[in-house]
Amino acid sequence: MKKILLIILDGLGDRPSKDLGNKTPLQAANKKNLNYLASKGMVGLFDPISPGIRPGSDTAHLSILGYDPYKTYTGRGPFEALGLGMDLKPGDVAFRGNFATVNDNFIVVDRRAGRIDNGTDELAKSLNMKIGDVEILVKEGVEHRAAVVLRGKNLSSKITDVDPHQENASVKESKPLDEKAKLTSDLINEFTRRSYKILDSHPINIERKKSGKNPANILLVRGAGIVPELEDFNKKFNLKAACIVGVPLISGICKLAGIKPISVPGATGTLNTNMENKIKYAIENLKEFDFILMNIKATDIAGHDGNAILKKEVIERADKAFEPLLEHLDEYTIMITGDHSTPCSVKDHTGDPLPVLISTSGIRSDGIDEWNEISAAKGSLRISGKDVINVLLNYSDRAEKFGA
Ligand code: ZN
Ligand code: ZN
Repeated sequence: MKKILLIILDGLGDRPSKDLGNKTPLQAANKKNLNYLASKGMVGLFDPISPGIRPGSDTAHLSILGYDPYKTYTGRGPFEALGLGMDLKPGDVAFRGNFATVNDNFIVVDRRAGRIDNGTDELAKSLNMKIGDVEILVKEGVEHRAAVVLRGKNLSSKITDVDPHQENASVKESKPLDEKAKLTSDLINEFTRRSYKILDSHPINIERKKSGKNPANILLVRGAGIVPELEDFNKKFNLKAACIVGVPLISGICKLAGIKPISVPGATGTLNTNMENKIKYAIENLKEFDFILMNIKATDIAGHDGNAILKKEVIERADKAFEPLLEHLDEYTIMITGDHSTPCSVKDHTGDPLPVLISTSGIRSDGIDEWNEISAAKGSLRISGKDVINVLLNYSDRAEKFGA
């Protein structure tokens, strides 16, 4: 049996770029280690969910880890809260939120509260409360954004938004979409009223009003979702699993799946992340664990920036960092791919399939020694997200037989 290392270069897939002589960043990159791994293994194209679906990082990772995203993805609220590093439990109901400005009549004057960019940590803290038996947790996000989590019994996500989604409109009364949801809609209405009371007289807002800025005097929530119960990954696949992930959204999903986080010095989930350390810690921890998921976010960041040259450089840095893996092909089954394409020409995720490679000793080689979106199409693999763990179990000689 071999150990499994699954490396997700976030947003890896791309389209030809004018800045790179009509090559994709992966095509243009100098990447001898990735090419070596491809030459020793199988390559192909990969659909994180299914052909043409434009995944978020959350839905793609759910799918890759063997969870049906159409059943487990219950709305953006919980995943937004995970992304802010909140500690969620199955059954919690989570919302996305906006600090906004309302007048005395609860008319929304400014949905972004003057694009507030500091002090929201204190404002969020002032809104942590208990209503009845239900705990309400608030965490600030970037600028005016926040997440709100309700924790208690008999909660439901089947309620309408408080946020009117436009300015010069009244704050809405949340309504239950079925009978069981009335407790939750009542709670969120009460929370909204209290948020105004607390925030309108908060020292930060008194200061903002004095200096002529719009006060962040209400928190408007939307996108209710219930935190899903994910079957324990370790039990589901009989693997002792860990992850090396810098992005809170993905590490939050791993946590819900029971995948143990490994913290790595210098792994930041940003462009300057320390990839050498990530690989070093993966090798060290594969002595203890059977499976490690690694996410490298920097490729996606370059894609969203529309910077093909930067994306190519990030791939080259990753390639250098992967060098120590080459001597472990007798012990490891390594898969390298992405969670979706983030073409620099689009600056957002697309449904284009991604290049994938599986490398380990003793498997059939496709004989393709240059790995990119174009050459991968000549390889033997055609897989989608739900196949990933099964394929890895098979090539690491861990799969259970189906039938006699
Ligand atoms: Zn992603
Ligand atoms: Zn992205």
